[in-house]
Amino acid sequence: MQMNARGIRVSFEFFPPRNPEMEQTLWQAIARLAPLQPHFVSVTYGAGGSTRERTHATVKRILTETMLTPAAHLTCVAATRTDVDAVVEAYAQAGVRHIVALRGDPLGGVGERYAPHPHGYRNAADLVAGIKRIANLEISVSAYPEKHPDSTDVTADLDMLKGKVDAGASRAITQFFFENDLYFRYLDRVRAAGIAIPIVPGILPVQNFRQTRNFAARAGASVPGWLAARFDGLDDDPATRKLIAAAVAAEQVLDLVERGVTEFHFYTMNRADLAYAICHLLGLRPDPNPAPRLAATEPAQ
Ligand code: FAD
Repeated sequence: MQMNARGIRVSFEFFPPRNPEMEQTLWQAIARLAPLQPHFVSVTYGAGGSTRERTHATVKRILTETMLTPAAHLTCVAATRTDVDAVVEAYAQAGVRHIVALRGDPLGGVGERYAPHPHGYRNAADLVAGIKRIANLEISVSAYPEKHPDSTDVTADLDMLKGKVDAGASRAITQFFFENDLYFRYLDRVRAAGIAIPIVPGILPVQNFRQTRNFAARAGASVPGWLAARFDGLDDDPATRKLIAAAVAAEQVLDLVERGVTEFHFYTMNRADLAYAICHLLGLRPDPNPAPRLAATEPAQ
């Protein structure tokens, strides 16, 4: 794992590919980002466990074909404890040592009232406790600087985070945000609530502004007017969009570094270029002596 002179540490998030073309894109991104020696790379779990097999296959391939440390996302929505436990056991047996434990969205989508499966884990804190009972894995959880859309208030959100930490989570990764003050205000509240684990900012380089706005609306994250203004008129100009996206993300992470942040989680959307460029700005450089087992660039047969 690389930590540069400023002590910067990064992780990258990917989603499991749906077809061979997407698989190739993913592995090209992994091959490009791997030499930066991220702390870990995580693989998401599709809504309601819809990518269970694909998430597992991607995590396993990272484990066997690269020197990277994978973290498998896992949700408990719409699943029995037995099913979820079986996934955890399979990961532990495969050598996975890190789970990103989440409740997940209701199957009807955000806005629908969440109800736990009658034989399932009640919430993310309950899931964390369940995972810890099976194996002593490292567990990361979510955190919401702007409050989760389901939460009645900020206090309920902090109570849930505290519950997850008490159950054994050792890191929280935030939902993406674009105003750094939101993150620091949240951090103050987290620390005031006696929660001491790292709260790692989740950074979303804006690959596509329209899509980002849709994600944000679902996630309860705000999109400031200045951000919309920066992408205004660029719908048909991908080259300029990319330059603007790099500038926006660079401004954000460099401000976070100046204000003391040393750990970042990048939502890569399976694309390496923006994340790579921002990491370069953060001072990370590819390892000149790569380990023998490196990420392959061809899809698995
Ligand atoms: P929790 O931490 O359990 O809850 C979030 C907040 O909602 C709590 O603070 C609590 O106040 C409130 N809340 C929870 N339950 C209730 C309730 N019943 N009534 C009222 N308030 C309630 N989703 C996926 O499907 N797959 C993924 O791989 C995935 N990865 C993610 C990674 C990160 C870093 C983040 C931030 C989110 C991710 N999500 C993923 C999205 C996540 O599943 C949704 O945001 C989901 O709605 C909440 O799950 P959670 O674990 O964050 O919830």
